[in-house]
Amino acid sequence: MPARIALHWFRKDLRLTDNTALHHAAKDASQVIPVYILSTWKTHHQWTGAKRQHFLAGCLDSLSKNLDTLGSRLILRAGDACQELEKLLLETNATDLYFNRDYDPYGRNMETQVLALCDRLGVTCHHYKDRVLHEAPEVLTGSGTEYRVYTPYSRNWLSLPKPTLLPRVTSLGPASTLPSLPVPTLDYWGLSGDVSGVLEPGERAARQRMKHLIDSGILHAYKDKRNLPAGQTTSRLGQDLRFGLLSIRELYQRCRAAAADASPAARDSIETYIKELAWREFYLAILVNHPEVFDEEFNPDWRGIPWPGSDHHFLAWSQGRTGFPIIDAGIRELLHTGFMHNRVRMIVSMFLTKDLHCHWRLGESFFMQHLVDGENASNNGGWQWSAGTGADAAPYFRIQNPWTQTKTYDPDGAYIRQWVPELRAVSTDRFLAPPKDNRPLAPGYPLPIVDHSTERDRTLALFKKHRAR
Ligand SMILES: Cc1cc2nc3c(=O)[nH]c(=O)nc-3n(C[C@H](O)[C@H](O)[C@H](O)COP(=O)(O)OP(=O)(O)OC[C@H]3O[C@@H](n4cnc5c(N)ncnc54)[C@H](O)[C@@H]3O)c2cc1C
Repeated sequence: MPARIALHWFRKDLRLTDNTALHHAAKDASQVIPVYILSTWKTHHQWTGAKRQHFLAGCLDSLSKNLDTLGSRLILRAGDACQELEKLLLETNATDLYFNRDYDPYGRNMETQVLALCDRLGVTCHHYKDRVLHEAPEVLTGSGTEYRVYTPYSRNWLSLPKPTLLPRVTSLGPASTLPSLPVPTLDYWGLSGDVSGVLEPGERAARQRMKHLIDSGILHAYKDKRNLPAGQTTSRLGQDLRFGLLSIRELYQRCRAAAADASPAARDSIETYIKELAWREFYLAILVNHPEVFDEEFNPDWRGIPWPGSDHHFLAWSQGRTGFPIIDAGIRELLHTGFMHNRVRMIVSMFLTKDLHCHWRLGESFFMQHLVDGENASNNGGWQWSAGTGADAAPYFRIQNPWTQTKTYDPDGAYIRQWVPELRAVSTDRFLAPPKDNRPLAPGYPLPIVDHSTERDRTLALFKKHRAR
């Protein structure tokens, strides 16, 4: 092997198995120095919070230990990624830099700077597709334009040949002796909070979750059960894809292998699951093509529409104290675990925007602060879907009724009772309609803060007025 020193810049790919850039670096260089650059903000961040940072810290700890077992060593630095990479390239005399591409505007902007840096220093920069099965320019309409609607996008996405797997790296050459920061804890960011409900971080735990999904039958029953929030009915792999603890290629290939041995009904379920993976890439593609969605509505028709919600309604929503049991259960699940079931995410987000008339950006930011799987593209896509302003969004006049949604998706109240303990002794029928007698469902539990049908009419009027302007 030629004597070449390379840096591998870990980003949202915190694993050793089937990691494209790392695999190529290991193949090409005699010493690969793995680096991660920590952000330096302290105490508060509009787009993240304690649970996701705790998970990240755990992933870095696990990655660092996995690298130790290969005889390598993770080098941690903090600051502006481009400036830190420049220092590292000069300190190590590395001739090559490897990384996997990221698709959000911040990540892409950093990549542009890093490419210019490599150019300036005469370093060869190698970057790869890794986070997705198909990058945005691979999935285009017959006339070469982007899709703005999910169904035709997913049809095309499904039909494309899928990339194959790469082996887990087994050697990265000698460990670097460069100075490194310790693996961070929450203190590093000045954060604190209860993280006891967060899933175990790291590649090994993620691989166990993937195995559980396939071996336990959850995948095989996904189509029928995925909309029921009680118990585990979905994969719970969102954070593992977010941090790149799992390769999307491996997850996809394992699903395909499971489908090959499955009954027709189970195969159908697995297809449904794979189509959810396409939603993730659809929203990533939307963000690549429309970075402006962070600042404004995707659909120009709804730009400038008023969101006259009040601070005290937003506060009640964000504390899980709206008097709507399904909403409060969802928010409390989020506050405790850093996760909320997808169906409930749809119900609570539509409630915030259509019943409380709060701007979807408030909800978007709140979710990003609390979700362990918080991912800009999917989160923005989900919020704009519910607000009715996004790509292929719910039409503004289709406003879900939280009471009937409860009846459909939590018919025996098991999810509500799990997350709203003061309602454990309340009979299920009382979760399905506002209290008739104007008595709270339990001592200390609030009455509904709004009347759904009144607020629904108000939303319809707001949207119609804006459209007619
Ligand atoms: C308002 C709102 C906000 C959301 N914010 C995020 C977010 O920040 N990060 C995030 O990963 N997902 C987000 N989602 C999508 C979805 O809720 C989560 O991906 C899912 O709940 C994660 O749980 P799971 O892994 O068990 O999902 P599963 O049902 O097992 O799905 C498998 C995988 O498919 C992908 N996926 C599923 N549904 C969607 C979807 N609607 N959009 C994009 N990808 C999807 C995810 O990667 C998920 O892990 C949001 C949805 C809504 C309505």
